[in-house]
Amino acid sequence: DNIIKLISAGEVIESPCSVVKELVENSIDSGATSIVVEIKNGGKDYIRVTDNGIGIDEQYVLEAFKKHTTSKITTFDDFINITTNGFRGEALASISAVAKISMTTKTSYSNYGMNVVISSDKLLEKTKVGAKDGTTVIVEDLFNDIPARKKFLKTDRAESSKISDFLIRYALANPSIKLKYINNSKQVFQTYGTGKIEDVINIIFAEDYYSGMISLEEPLSEYISVKGVIGNNSLMFSSRKMQYIFINGRIIKDKTITSHIENAYRKYIPSGNFPMFFINIIIKPDMVDVNIHPNKLEVKFADEKTVYNLIENKISSILDNLSM
Ligand code: ADP
Ligand code: MG
Repeated sequence: DNIIKLISAGEVIESPCSVVKELVENSIDSGATSIVVEIKNGGKDYIRVTDNGIGIDEQYVLEAFKKHTTSKITTFDDFINITTNGFRGEALASISAVAKISMTTKTSYSNYGMNVVISSDKLLEKTKVGAKDGTTVIVEDLFNDIPARKKFLKTDRAESSKISDFLIRYALANPSIKLKYINNSKQVFQTYGTGKIEDVINIIFAEDYYSGMISLEEPLSEYISVKGVIGNNSLMFSSRKMQYIFINGRIIKDKTITSHIENAYRKYIPSGNFPMFFINIIIKPDMVDVNIHPNKLEVKFADEKTVYNLIENKISSILDNLSM
């Protein structure tokens, strides 16, 4: 029984980054406008995620750690149009099977918060505490009881760089959320929740690109629109590091979309150089399948030729207008 639990937990939680991902997605789903992520030693020893979201009612705190408990799917219809990040209802259960987890949570209508500590599936503590509205989850000693799994973790540096990449994508996809990231007691970045992706880009890349950025918020057809920022035709880079594509707020990597966007720049940017773009493609959920790949990085559009051409033509016409 325990082995089955550990095996299935391992499918969700494979590294410190998967813990961070699940906790941050829970924070976003809770309506948080401010999230702090702190890690130590690549997240192997310590991960903290604090949010100012709705919190969990006292009577449901332990429920949240049970498998397949989720507050996020209520009807079959919801399951088709999944808008929240988590929908399996097992992240907290999985984490508490392979680590020590402490959660402090308070709703706005309660006078006190609740703290629960669970380690290797055992409840160690459940107490009332003073707390701010929102939720803090601290995960320590990941995989301490599973040496075989612990051995597979990469170096602290490699694990923390995976977490950084992930948080950068989250910051870019959620410019309205204040996100602070602390690694080994040093602040790596902090965004301010202004809602403008330009602000996030300048903070993350520690540069002032304002004058080269064109903001984009355009309907392309009745079911698709693009939102974000593209670089003008004199802003170029030696790699694709300034290129991010999201579909409905989720990061994807799609060579075909990338090459269509780069086509639009072909006249202006010499080969071997790469344009900047941070684009969120907002599309009716039934026109796109993001689940074809387990890591959800690739997508399939119902009407792909049309989508590709709409995007390329829009960017072409913006760039052509600039140089007129
Ligand atoms: P899921 O996110 O798939 O529902 P989880 O195991 O990640 O499953 O979380 C279980 C439940 O715990 C959530 O459905 C939610 O009700 C509650 N929860 C978890 N984290 C938070 C949080 N940061 N703020 C508010 N509620 C939370
Ligand atoms: Mg979740």
